Amino acid sequence: MPNITGHTELVGLMAYPIRHSQSPTTHNLAYDRNGDDVIQLAFEVDNDSLKDAVQSIRALKMLGSNVSMPNKTVVHQYLDEVDDAARLCGAINTVVNVRDENGEVTGYLKGYNTDGMGYWRGLKEAGIDYKGKKLVLIGTGGAAAAIAVRGALDGLASIEIFNIKDKFYDRGVDIAKLINENTECKAEMHDLADLDLLKEKMHEADLFCDATGVGIHPLEDLSNIPDGSFFKPDLIVTDTVYAPRETVMMKQAKDAGVKTVMNGLSMMLFQALIAIELYTGKETDVEYMKEQLGI
Ligand code: NAD
Repeated sequence: MPNITGHTELVGLMAYPIRHSQSPTTHNLAYDRNGDDVIQLAFEVDNDSLKDAVQSIRALKMLGSNVSMPNKTVVHQYLDEVDDAARLCGAINTVVNVRDENGEVTGYLKGYNTDGMGYWRGLKEAGIDYKGKKLVLIGTGGAAAAIAVRGALDGLASIEIFNIKDKFYDRGVDIAKLINENTECKAEMHDLADLDLLKEKMHEADLFCDATGVGIHPLEDLSNIPDGSFFKPDLIVTDTVYAPRETVMMKQAKDAGVKTVMNGLSMMLFQALIAIELYTGKETDVEYMKEQLGI
């Protein structure tokens, strides 16, 4: 039981539904470990109550709030500033109540997207230098957009984006255009049905990421990759899915001799630790968190 006093500061988590979230467990473990008198609480907030909820960050002098669906893509209109990656990918998951030089919160709210930062921090922590590298990315939803935009801003040479022709496809066309217009990275959008092109691009690439709902329930028995011939041993293969810990695609890659295969656990952990650092200015002991969370 945390020692909550009149000094304890509050970080929110605003989403609907939200009761299933692991975020308060991760955040409160980290605040405790860091010796910070801070707690995170989850609040059921939907688009109708979001404006008032964001105003309450200012009114209650909260340190900020994490934001998830359905609020990620609309919260920007209630903020004072949005960082470049969050603006380009069109989603915010962390709202920071910016502090003044004395460390007091000011009511000036800045939005970030730590999903993309978390994915790339996970690779960096694994010793992978991605600057100047070529990425093949499957997916154009929230996770994929965040990964693509942050990677492009941080120096990827190129991103070949593939998606099925569903409602998310046009979003991919927009993301590729935004990346080409705003960064040095070259992005192209392709139909995932063009498997010959996918194989060719995967053989030319340094990094591969599947950021789709394939591999997680109810699509846990499926893979976007037809067979092991799409992989080469030195391709760095990543999946954003972390439950199950090994997707069908990850197993295909391992069976094909790929040396580095990663699931989405590091992205999940680091998106939280980066948000915590934005709220408190403190880095959290990564090994301690992994051990405590069993990851
Ligand atoms: P989203 O709903 O925004 O996007 C879904 C994506 O999956 C789209 O590109 C869609 O076209 C694709 N897709 C859906 N069904 C498909 C199918 N049958 N075949 C091929 N593609 C299909 O979802 P999101 O929030 O971007 O999440 C995408 C994945 O990333 C999920 O597996 C989610 O669990 C994971 N994720 C992980 C983290 C993390 O921290 N590790 C964070 C966010 C999301």
